[in-house]
Amino acid sequence: MNPIYRKSLFNIPPGMIYLDGNSLGPPLKEIESISESVIVKEWGGKLIKGWNESNWMEQPLIVGNKIANLIGGDKGSIVAGDTLSIKTYQALAAAIKLNPQRNIILTDIDNFPSDIYIAEGLVDTLNSNFEVRKVKSTDILSSLTKDVNVVLLTHVNYKTGAMFDIEAVTNSVHENGSTIIWDLAHSAGAIPLDLKAINCEFAVGCTYKFLNGGPGSPAFIYVRPDLIKKCYPILRGWLGHKAPFDFTNTFEKSASIEMMRVGTPPVIQMAILEKALDIFRDLDFYKLREESIKLSDLFINMVEQTCSDLQLESPIKPSERGSQVSFSHPSGYAIMQALIDRNIVGDFRAPDIIRFGITPLYINEKDIIRTVKVLEDILSKRLWDTPAYLNRKKVT
Ligand SMILES: *Cc1c(COP(=O)(O)O)cnc(C)c1O
Repeated sequence: MNPIYRKSLFNIPPGMIYLDGNSLGPPLKEIESISESVIVKEWGGKLIKGWNESNWMEQPLIVGNKIANLIGGDKGSIVAGDTLSIKTYQALAAAIKLNPQRNIILTDIDNFPSDIYIAEGLVDTLNSNFEVRKVKSTDILSSLTKDVNVVLLTHVNYKTGAMFDIEAVTNSVHENGSTIIWDLAHSAGAIPLDLKAINCEFAVGCTYKFLNGGPGSPAFIYVRPDLIKKCYPILRGWLGHKAPFDFTNTFEKSASIEMMRVGTPPVIQMAILEKALDIFRDLDFYKLREESIKLSDLFINMVEQTCSDLQLESPIKPSERGSQVSFSHPSGYAIMQALIDRNIVGDFRAPDIIRFGITPLYINEKDIIRTVKVLEDILSKRLWDTPAYLNRKKVT
């Protein structure tokens, strides 16, 4: 019995086994009340007064504090807003100024594309000899040379689920005199995290994956409290100003983490996220993690026994794996389409990886057993080998 299981709190279509919460978490039933409380009463009922009377302007900080609570950050160290790509840009732009004599941004060559593109785009705007150095994840530590300014890594790899030892890597980066930015896209809401203990300078993450904030929900940025004074925002929006409503034509940054705000927050999406975060308030992340490992191990073992065509792409050791399990197969796309057609939803990442998010909040042992049974059927009878499953959709 999975003590974390609370599927009845979510809106998931009846009969569906949803193994894609690592990509888009499902909605809590409770957030439906937002349409009455925020759309009808606050927006419709108060219109512009809502900014003052309903705390809309404070939301990014209120939500940031709730996220900080989940991942071990101090109050006032996280602000929510924008998208993860933007927050990554902000973190990088602030970080490189801390170490101006060093010119290398070091990252994982298998990092999520946006993280790499953002770093390279930033370097393109700099009139200097800055360079993005992309190396294999296993070569990160040996690539820590004295010219490394900042290391940008994603804690859990989006494709394979491989997980860095976040504390050990942070320590090594610090011993090298470099700064670290952790992208927590695939760990916030899935893995126990303690930012204070990790002692990273920056962290960023999104909230629509394991945190169930809804499609396009705001991202977040963490700046270690001692650096908030030292850092300067590069994307300078009016809401990062210390007094936005003075409307001055000179930027003076907010003294708080709010300096990382840019423009008007998405109030409705913030309200949804704020409510969605409450499911984690009394949740023991260590128990959640324990269940995720149990379910993942069961999944891996059963697939190994019955679906020998599938190659495990995730680390076999639980301590090196996040909360997803990935396999490769040359016809991975069609296999996933066949699964989805049978109401078991995971996803596919080119060229040949099928991914399964393991989310004990709404996945239990029965679901795993059923998934492997169906998968075995699809493979042994080649049910995937039909034109309908080979046609590649826009979002895979
Ligand atoms: C999901 C994800 C993103 C997505 O960025 P958005 O700006 O929210 O679209 C970026 N980086 C990583 C590591 C991700 O997993």
